Amino acid sequence: MKHKVTFIPGDGIGPEVAKATQRALEATGVQFQWDTAIIGRQALEMFGTLFPESALESIKRNRVALKGPVTTPIGGGFRSVNVTLRQKLDLYAGLRPYKTYPGVHTPYKNVDIVVVRENTEGLYAGIEFAKDSPGTTKLAELVAQTTGDKIREDSAVSLRVISQTASRRIVKFAFEYARQNGRKKVTVFHKANILKLSDGLFLDTAREIAREYPDIEFTDTVVDAACMQLVRRPEQFDVLGLPNFYGDFISDLCAGLVGGLGLAPGANIGDDIAIFEAAHGSAPKYAGKNKVNPMAMMLSGVMMLRYLGEKDSAERLEKAIAEVIAEGKNVTYDLKLDPQDNTAVGTSQVADAVIEKLKQARK
Ligand code: NAD
Repeated sequence: MKHKVTFIPGDGIGPEVAKATQRALEATGVQFQWDTAIIGRQALEMFGTLFPESALESIKRNRVALKGPVTTPIGGGFRSVNVTLRQKLDLYAGLRPYKTYPGVHTPYKNVDIVVVRENTEGLYAGIEFAKDSPGTTKLAELVAQTTGDKIREDSAVSLRVISQTASRRIVKFAFEYARQNGRKKVTVFHKANILKLSDGLFLDTAREIAREYPDIEFTDTVVDAACMQLVRRPEQFDVLGLPNFYGDFISDLCAGLVGGLGLAPGANIGDDIAIFEAAHGSAPKYAGKNKVNPMAMMLSGVMMLRYLGEKDSAERLEKAIAEVIAEGKNVTYDLKLDPQDNTAVGTSQVADAVIEKLKQARK
């Protein structure tokens, strides 16, 4: 059976890592029918819209997409295509596994952490009020009337919204993931000592959900202390359930533990649609240079194979990637002890090496 998958190359380094991943996935022998879709700046130039309806329709129809990173300008310009995509399709769970593969230059050896990040609300809900806008004035009046607090006239405001509904489903997702994948513990990070109402709600909801999973240990930690503990003893963590904002920076911290963004895969998952994409962005300075590591996206491809029920092929592809890392020969600059090491290979050569490992395993 051919799996129908929407293929979004993205921009910047996107097309290179996406192509490398597509080749590696096809080399597993699994059959795909790729449906290519363009979104973001490139789509704006080509079709006059960031989200051509056809791209969204394709994802909705196929229910599975493999996506390269898409650039978002900082400050002004358009709103993040990635955030909008997650919101439009209600891909509420950001799933990011981080583990140390033998051969990676990192002081940490036994990291095996799965970050489950709430994707749709919190500080990144995108509800913002500009300085000197009528919205900010009204909000300041409302706050003054209801809490007595003063918002300075020259403020810009971003709302941080935490709902019980979104908290419940993300924590449930974390526990379900733990149960289905033989994991032992779910930990939530929060700042309920300061953000008593919003993070307090998240924590209370998590405690309530935890009671439904007596077979899985539940712990909670204040997010700042958790950062320190992650760096000191990451092996103590298993599955993490996190509000959106914390999930964002804890993900990058975890990527640092296991060897960097070049090894950080991910997926954004809703009730019946999933988009698989690396945690990293479009790294524009490396675009078109055949330079960056495609393994984060390839490992996202491994996650996609598992999601599609192709478990055996997923294991084989992950093993092939792990072998290339362990050999340390056909790896990109970021996996070399010295990033200037001129024996580092390019993106497409990594794909060649992974494909060769897959071929050898078949013999
Ligand atoms: P980035 O992740 O693109 O790159 C930061 C640095 O990390 C790079 O300069 C590079 O040194 C390193 N890096 C990233 N990916 C790598 C790889 N595969 N191999 C080796 N090294 C790698 O972060 P940024 O520069 O903050 O963001 C660039 C753009 O990407 C922004 O417009 C941002 O909004 C966007 N972005 C998109 C997504 C997405 O599409 N899901 C995610 C994050 C950022």
